[in-house]
Amino acid sequence: MLIVIKEKNHESLIQKLQSMLSEKYGCESHIIGGNKRVLAVTGDTSGVDVEFLKNMDGIRSVDRVDRPYKLASRERKDRTMIEISKDCVIGDPKSVVMIAGPCSIDSEGQLDETAAMAKARDIKILRGGAYKPRTGPYSFQGKGEEGLKLIAKAGQKYGMKTISEIMKAEDLPLFEEYVDMMQVGARNMQNYELLKALGKSKKPVMLKRGLAAKLEEWLLAAEYILAGGNPNVILCERGIRTFEEEVRFTLCLGSVPALRELTHLPIIVDPSHAMGKTRWVKDAALGGVAVGADGLIVEIHPRPSESSCDASQLLDLEHWNECMDGVTAVAKAIGKRVV
Ligand code: PEP
Ligand code: MN
Repeated sequence: MLIVIKEKNHESLIQKLQSMLSEKYGCESHIIGGNKRVLAVTGDTSGVDVEFLKNMDGIRSVDRVDRPYKLASRERKDRTMIEISKDCVIGDPKSVVMIAGPCSIDSEGQLDETAAMAKARDIKILRGGAYKPRTGPYSFQGKGEEGLKLIAKAGQKYGMKTISEIMKAEDLPLFEEYVDMMQVGARNMQNYELLKALGKSKKPVMLKRGLAAKLEEWLLAAEYILAGGNPNVILCERGIRTFEEEVRFTLCLGSVPALRELTHLPIIVDPSHAMGKTRWVKDAALGGVAVGADGLIVEIHPRPSESSCDASQLLDLEHWNECMDGVTAVAKAIGKRVV
């Protein structure tokens, strides 16, 4: 970290800073440069309150040289690869892993039919929401534990791994019992108690980007899970809120190459929630593969109009097959295979 002091010979300010940095944060600091106005701070600066320093009288600027996330940083390692099953590794540079299933688990029959639709395209991971974070309290909130039991059953029947959204730390034992992976939804990206609880699990966690989260905030959220002891974190770009109203969210595909430089964690793209319309999902999915995502998560349903949730963006059989054909072609063009 570099701290630049406004005027020359501010010795007392420099002394004050040096003792504060050492006593409060255990960091060393050294005066550098001929005019003695730059303080280079070394050691673990991740806990230093940069905003407080910037607001102190006599300080011109404070710049972090290191990123505030240590464990998620690319400096630590090149790539994390998470083995979901023998033939399905998320983060393998040669594969695009597909996750598909309904938005919400509405009934055993609906989930079974949807899982069959996914299985027909050899999908290895089945998604389905049992606890739904709905904008309004009167909308269907999900089937809860019963939904988790249903997805476990469908996963077993079709030989697929499963993922479902967890919304509160107290539900962790249920998720440990019934699913293979856990999803943290966009609205809970900053639910820090939940993230800490997931740090104690060993199951892979797919952390969706918050509706208005910067990459740094998202990576710091991932850092909570990593710091808790769970190395199996996957990031999911699902679009952010901007001034644009024609599309449901603005899919930030630029985050994929940017994250690739910043972190070793795998990155998945969710074209369904970003676009919000069935007919647009495929194109966004192809974009996700083209920019180098490690996988996609897509919502599908045999009869979207019957769904309790997100009916307007679900892929029916025809759109699903078109999407998979396109994804397979783009993956092949960039030397990857669809898993
Ligand atoms: C979902 O995956 O069904 C969901 C609610 O996603 P998000 O948290 O991205 O809105
Ligand atoms: Mn949904």
